[in-house]
Amino acid sequence: MLLPLLKKILPANARLSLRKLFWLSRGWLYLGNKVFCPLCEGSFRTFLPFGNERRLQALCPRCHTLERHRLLWLYLQEQVRIQERALDALHMAPEPILQKRLRNLLNLNYRSADLTSPVAMDQVDLQALPYPSASFDLVLCSHVLAHVPQDKQALQELRRVLRPTGQLLLQARLHPQEKTLEVAHALTPHQRLQAYGQADRFRNYGQDFARRVAAQGFKVKEVEYALARTPEEQARLGLGKGERIFVATPVAYEAQ
Ligand SMILES: [Zn+2]
Repeated sequence: MLLPLLKKILPANARLSLRKLFWLSRGWLYLGNKVFCPLCEGSFRTFLPFGNERRLQALCPRCHTLERHRLLWLYLQEQVRIQERALDALHMAPEPILQKRLRNLLNLNYRSADLTSPVAMDQVDLQALPYPSASFDLVLCSHVLAHVPQDKQALQELRRVLRPTGQLLLQARLHPQEKTLEVAHALTPHQRLQAYGQADRFRNYGQDFARRVAAQGFKVKEVEYALARTPEEQARLGLGKGERIFVATPVAYEAQ
C-alpha cells in the first residue's frame, strides 16, 4: 500500500533518495566479512537472492548491484585501467553506483545518457545519439539493447560515436536458444510481455548476440572475466556463473 502511494506522490529524484536511504540502512544490517562488494567496497555476511528464479548470492545489500555490475567494475579497473587513463567515456543507462564511481575519476571525461532515467546526465535516444562522430574512447552499454526498438541502428550509432581505437563494452541477458527471438506481431506492451516475458523488451537475445553485434561493423571478443579468479574469490566477490562481457571494437571501414 505504502510503496504505490509514495510512487504517486513523490517526484523521481525524491524516490531515488529514499531508495538510497533504504539500501544504506539494509547494508548495515548485513555487515560481516564473508563477501565483498568491489563497487561500494562494503563487506557483508552474504549477498542477497535476486530475480524471478531467485539466484542466491546476487544482490549487494548496500548498493543494490548484481553479479554483472561487480564483474564489469573489476574488468574496468583491471583491464581497461579506468582509474589511470585519460578517456572520453559514455555510459548508457547508468547504474547509480557505477556512475558515482566513474564520475569521481578525475582522469575520465564522463557522460551518462538514457532515454528517460533521472539519474543520467543527458536524455538521448540510442538510435540517434546527439554526440559528434568519433568522440568517445569507451562506451558502456549493459542490458540496454534488448529494450531498444531498432538495435541495429543503435549499434551503428554506438560505432559512429566511438573513436577508431575505442571500445564498446556490452552485457546482455542471453537465452539458451541459438537464434535471437523477435516476434514481428508483438507491437504493443501487452503483446511484448506475452512474447518476451517483459513489456519493455523488443527481443530476447540468443547465443548469436556476438554475431549480431559484429554484423554492424565490430570485432567482438567474449570475455568470461570471472574465470580470471579462483572459485573462492568468485564466491567472495559474488561474480555469478557464466556472465560474459562483450568487448566490441570498430572494424575499420576500408577493411569491411
Ligand atoms: Zn555494493
